[in-house]
Amino acid sequence: MKMSRMYIRTLRETPAEAVLPSHILMIRTGMIRKLVSGIYGYMPIGKRVLEKVSGIVREEMDSTGAEEILMSALQPAELWQESGRWGAYGPEMWRVRDRNDREFCLGPTHEEIFTDIIRNGVSSYRQLPVTLYQIQTKYRDEARPRFGLMRSREFLMKDAYSFDRDKEGMDESYQAMYDAYSRVFTRVGLTFRAVEADSGAIGGNASHEFTALAENGESSIVYCDHCDMAATDERAELRDDPPSPESEALKELTEVETPGTKTIELVADYLGLDQKQTIKALLYETYDDDGSVNGYVAAFIRGDRQANLVKLVNALDIPEHAIAFADEVKMAEATGCVAGFTGPVGLKNCTIVADTEIVGLKNLCAGANKENYHLLNVNYGRDYTADIVTNFKLIEEGDPCPVCGAPVKFTRGIEVGQVFKLGTKYSAPMGAVYKDENMQEHDIEMGCYGIGVSRTMAAIVEQYHDDDGILWPVPVAPYHVIITVMKIKDEEQMALAERMEKELTAQGIETVVDDRDERPGVKFKDADLIGIPVRITVGRRAEEGVVEYKLRKEADKVELSAEDAVAQAAAYIQSELAAHSHEAVMGK
Ligand code: ATP
Ligand code: MG
Repeated sequence: MKMSRMYIRTLRETPAEAVLPSHILMIRTGMIRKLVSGIYGYMPIGKRVLEKVSGIVREEMDSTGAEEILMSALQPAELWQESGRWGAYGPEMWRVRDRNDREFCLGPTHEEIFTDIIRNGVSSYRQLPVTLYQIQTKYRDEARPRFGLMRSREFLMKDAYSFDRDKEGMDESYQAMYDAYSRVFTRVGLTFRAVEADSGAIGGNASHEFTALAENGESSIVYCDHCDMAATDERAELRDDPPSPESEALKELTEVETPGTKTIELVADYLGLDQKQTIKALLYETYDDDGSVNGYVAAFIRGDRQANLVKLVNALDIPEHAIAFADEVKMAEATGCVAGFTGPVGLKNCTIVADTEIVGLKNLCAGANKENYHLLNVNYGRDYTADIVTNFKLIEEGDPCPVCGAPVKFTRGIEVGQVFKLGTKYSAPMGAVYKDENMQEHDIEMGCYGIGVSRTMAAIVEQYHDDDGILWPVPVAPYHVIITVMKIKDEEQMALAERMEKELTAQGIETVVDDRDERPGVKFKDADLIGIPVRITVGRRAEEGVVEYKLRKEADKVELSAEDAVAQAAAYIQSELAAHSHEAVMGK
C-alpha cells in the first residue's frame, strides 16, 4: 500500500476537547472523526484496527460454538414493554417514531430481540442450548459522552445471549463466555482483570466485568493482595464493624442543642464524639417514568461511612436514573426532615433505609429533625425502625477485605466487557419457554455477554502509547510494517522499497510504503504517531542494499541488508501473531 494514495490526515496539535491520551491520539492519527458529541466515524486506519479487534472477538466467539447473526438497530417499543424496560430504561434510550407514529428505539442492547427470536424458534429441550451473537452498532444517549470512543453515544458492541434448559447449563454457557473473554483480551494485548460485578436484582455471583487496567479508567476496582478477591467498587461489600456488646445498656433518648452543626464533623466535634457514634442522613427523591417526583428516601448510615448508591438502588428495586438527591425544602415539607439536622426518629412519609451497621450499634447520635438540635442515645427498634435494612456502605482503600479481612487496595480501569447470568429475567415475562422430555414447560435460562469493541480499541491505546504516539500490539496493528523512503525521487530507493513491500506482502505481512513527498522528519513523526510495529527506512545506502530496521517500541536502530530486514520483520510479526493466536492462548 502506498501512503501517497492513502487518505491520511494526521494532526500535530492536541484537539481542544480531548484529555485522555487515547482520545487525543485517535484524533491526531486521523483514525476517528467526530461528527457531533459522542458520535464518531472510523477513518481508514481506525477501521482497520476496529476490524482486527472484531476479528479476534469473532474467532473466540465462534470457537465456543456461538453463532453470529446481525439484528437491526431499530427495535419496536412493544418488545420493551413486554419485558418492562420501556419505562425503566430512562433517558439513555434513543426513542424514535415512524411515519405512522409507532414507537421504536435505537437499541442500547438486545436482550428483548434475542429473547423474541428464541421464543419463536425454540419449543423443545432438544433445541437447547444455543448461543447467538452479533457485532453491531449500539445507541445510548449518554448523559456525559466523553473520552472519544470510551464513552460515546454510538458504539460497536459484540453482544451474545445464551439459552439453556437449566441453571447448570447456564453456568456452563457463562463459563465458556468468561473463558472466551479472557482469551479475547489476552489476544488483543490488554493487561486486564476479571472482577466480580454488581448484578442488580439478580444477585449472587452472577456477573463479572473485564477491566483493562488504566489510571484514566472510569471504573474503580477493589482487590486484595492477600486473597484473590477482586470486584468493582459498586459490588465489593464492606462488612459491618462488630455490633455493640449485648451488655451495653440503652441510655435515655436526650435532645441536645447543637447550634450550626450541619455536618457530621461539626456535630461530632461539638459534642466531643467519635464520628463512629453518629448517624448520617442522606436524602433522596425518586421519580416516575415521566420524571415527576413520586417519593422520598431517607437513608441512614454511620457518620464516618460513605453510601454506595448502586447497593441502595438495588435495595429499593428502582433504576439508578430514578433517584437523585432531594430538593431539601420540598422534602422537609413532606417528611419533617430538617437539612443538616435530619435523623430517623419521627420522620414521616418517606422510605427509611438503615444500613445494617447502625442497627447493631447502640446509643448513637442523630439529627433531631429540628433546626440546631440533635438526639443522643438513638437506638434502632426502640426509637425508630426502617422500611429497609440493608448493607449499602461503600468500601474504601484500606477497609477490610470482605473475604479475608486484609486491607483492600484500589486500582482504576476501563470496563471493556461484562458477562451476566440473567436466569429467567427476560424469558419469564416474555414467555420464552421449552418443553422437557415429559412435555413439561419451563422458562429458558439465559445469559448475556457484551464486549465494547470500539471501547476496547481506546483501552488498547490507553495502555500502549508514549509521548510520540501509539505502539500497537501486532495482533491489532493497522499495518505491520512501514517502509519509509527518505527521498522518493531517488529511483533506487523507491525500487528497493517496492521490492521489500512485495516480499513482505507475499508472506502475509501488511505493509505500507511512505512514499509521500514530505520531509523525512515528518514521515518519522507520522510513523511514530500511527504506531506501526516495525519501521524499515530506505535511505542513502539503498544502492548497497542496506536499510535501517527499527521496532516502534524500542529506541535502537540497526542497519541490515534489505533481505535480512525483510526476514527479520516477517519473523517478528509472525511470532507475535502466533503468540497471540487462539491456539497459543488456549494452551495457556
Ligand atoms: P458503563 O458502566 O461503562 O456505562 P455498561 O455497564 O452500561 O457500561 P454494558 O451494558 O455492560 O455497559 O455494555 C457492554 C459493554 O459495552 C461494556 O462493557 C462497554 O465495554 C461497552 N460500552 C457500554 N457503554 C458504552 C459507551 N457509551 N461507549 C462505548 N462503549 C460502551
Ligand atoms: Mg457493564
